[in-house]
Amino acid sequence: MTFTFKTYDDFLREYQTYHSHSCSKCGMPMELILMPVFIEIGDIQLTYEELHILECTDCRYDCLPEYSKEIIGGCYQTAIERGDKMGIFSRKGYRKKFDYCTEQDFIYDHNDYYNIPGLSYDDEHSVEGFLTPVYFTKKVLLYFMHDPDYKVKLGAESYGEFSLKNEWSIPFGINRNDKVVFWLGDLNYLDNMTLNIMKPHNIESDHQLIASEFYAGQMCCIWSHPNREMRICDQKDKLFNALTNTYGVSLFHLIDEIKQQKEQYVKPVIITERTIEPTINMLHKVLIEGVNMQEIRKIYLKVVEKPDKRYEQWGSIKFYEVLLKNVISRNDDVHNIISPLYLLNDFRQYYDHLLSEEVKESKRQNIVQSLGVVSFDNTEKIYNELLNKLATLFEYLILGYTV
Ligand SMILES: [Zn+2]
Repeated sequence: MTFTFKTYDDFLREYQTYHSHSCSKCGMPMELILMPVFIEIGDIQLTYEELHILECTDCRYDCLPEYSKEIIGGCYQTAIERGDKMGIFSRKGYRKKFDYCTEQDFIYDHNDYYNIPGLSYDDEHSVEGFLTPVYFTKKVLLYFMHDPDYKVKLGAESYGEFSLKNEWSIPFGINRNDKVVFWLGDLNYLDNMTLNIMKPHNIESDHQLIASEFYAGQMCCIWSHPNREMRICDQKDKLFNALTNTYGVSLFHLIDEIKQQKEQYVKPVIITERTIEPTINMLHKVLIEGVNMQEIRKIYLKVVEKPDKRYEQWGSIKFYEVLLKNVISRNDDVHNIISPLYLLNDFRQYYDHLLSEEVKESKRQNIVQSLGVVSFDNTEKIYNELLNKLATLFEYLILGYTV
């Protein structure tokens, strides 16, 4: 990356220009990256083997962040004083340490603190370095998810709260590279036992932070959307409201129990066959069991001309299917679009019942085939596909019944 300034005054103008977290060309978030940088100021040439720059995540527009500009300004002055025309600089790996969590000596990069817009403009904390991002692998949360004293609550898709009983509660985020991020200053509130469990999962910064719900929520006060699982529950409510408006019949059922299910739900941070079970249970209860059967039969009779002889024995999925057929003309589409509800049911049985290995295998096969996934071992893909398809199903239904 080359930045050319005809004169020192041009560089000073750039020096005084503050680049925010969003791209000045297209408005998308910038991210901090390290790359080789070549600077020309007048006839002075400065070559950096590595320097932090801000790059737009969308249009790739590059600009110089605050701290890098300070470094360049310093090198320029030194070159002038020495009468040098050029200089080559390599990163010596120097790391400044802030006065937080000194005992644990976490790995972090002070360049992040000084370069990522907003982090060092902090009036709230008297000790410098509070908003320094500290990075961990996702495994850092695994232990705490299984210990009842702790809570790891991902309220949004990648932004959540980590707490220990009534003792402390701090925010965390998951960045674009699937790394877990905490503020250094927040970690300072935690007890040593917790920090020592976290320490082995602490990794080098990848500088990615700005394009995260965590940064948006913490730095720009932008509310995150609820996580996808909760959004699907909201879609169901939206559909039921639309059906009430159209048919004058309310399908809401076990309202308090459903509310409790949603409140107690903990979104999995790491996706494995075991960790997704609570999601499967919660969605099954909310979407499939949380339907007033007596009332949905009334809607059924309003929708079809000739009711099926056995419709009174049907479960809720079959009625969802009729509702879908009513708004979609092509039959093969219906089969595909409704499939996630059947899969949710398969999944629930897979977890809940003492099934023979043979039946379990056939459920696995069915889930894999219906979702177009290569193998049942690819839980993350299965999980994402299932959520995508559920969201799509409810989109169709909501569109079909919202006048
Ligand atoms: Zn841009």
